Amino acid sequence: MAVAHRLFRLFSPFTPAKNNLSSFLIRSLSSSSSSSTHGPSLDPEIDLKEAAAELEKSSSPSSSPSPSKGRNFHWVFLGCPGVGKGTYASRLSTLLGVPHIATGDLVREELSSSGLLSSQLKELVNHGKLVPDEFIISLLSKRLEAGKEKGESGYILDGFPRTVTQAEILEGVINVDLVINLKLKEEALLAKCLGRKICSECGANYNVACIDIKGGDGDGDGDDRMYMPPLLPPPKCESKLITRADDTEEVVKERLRVYNKMTQPVEEFYRKRGKLLEFELPGGIPQSWPKLLRALHLEDDKQSAIA
Ligand code: AMP
Repeated sequence: MAVAHRLFRLFSPFTPAKNNLSSFLIRSLSSSSSSSTHGPSLDPEIDLKEAAAELEKSSSPSSSPSPSKGRNFHWVFLGCPGVGKGTYASRLSTLLGVPHIATGDLVREELSSSGLLSSQLKELVNHGKLVPDEFIISLLSKRLEAGKEKGESGYILDGFPRTVTQAEILEGVINVDLVINLKLKEEALLAKCLGRKICSECGANYNVACIDIKGGDGDGDGDDRMYMPPLLPPPKCESKLITRADDTEEVVKERLRVYNKMTQPVEEFYRKRGKLLEFELPGGIPQSWPKLLRALHLEDDKQSAIA
């Protein structure tokens, strides 16, 4: 893991968590009104100030760090719905030994419980809207707190932050080392979301879409063709496949619209801070994974990665 160690130093992972509570609360409170495009908080019990304070508590270093539980990376994956954040974040999490925390998964777990809050949330999620900042921050804090108790000291975030308010609050409590912004041609994004299937038993993700986008540079040499073969399930999962309720054409288009409006400014937020690594996916996993490892200077580690 020599290269991983180099990268580890390069992105200053030992930088301590920030403790400037008052300044981030002031910032978060002053910006909260501008971020609320999704209406008032669903749960009057949760307010942004409280959620941010919880996040700070859960982000401070564990008093009993366990060196065996991975390293202190704080990485973030950004990118449109369907781009493959979950796929690449989960592979890097295995490679680097840090947990992959997807806020979409936390939301879906919450939705599986019954109650008024869950049905209100379902309404938002199933229509492609974001859930309120205060709610997602509170969910994330709980997940980080549970991880801290297990000795986790770093993470790869997927799906968070999705608004500038979320990014400001996160920046106030932790030094994000690196933000990987995955990009893919827009026509491939829709096809990938529509082809996504999940095994209801083991939770594995598959994709039945076969994406073949001819290039448009006109020289006919095919070097700009994008081919992504389907990722088909093994026989044991075949009969248990389900489609996410928010993977319908209408909802995916809304999610893309919401991404462009609410999350694209987050790219700029990190670009200005010199933390954004832009990564254009050249195709499916076989082409993209080795290229991503090279971009991250992790190619020496690839033998330990899943093929
Ligand atoms: P994902 O699996 O990342 O596509 O997330 C599924 C849904 O969960 C999103 O469409 C949102 O409704 C909700 N969600 C996940 N993460 C966030 C976040 N950081 N902020 C607000 N809503 C979120």
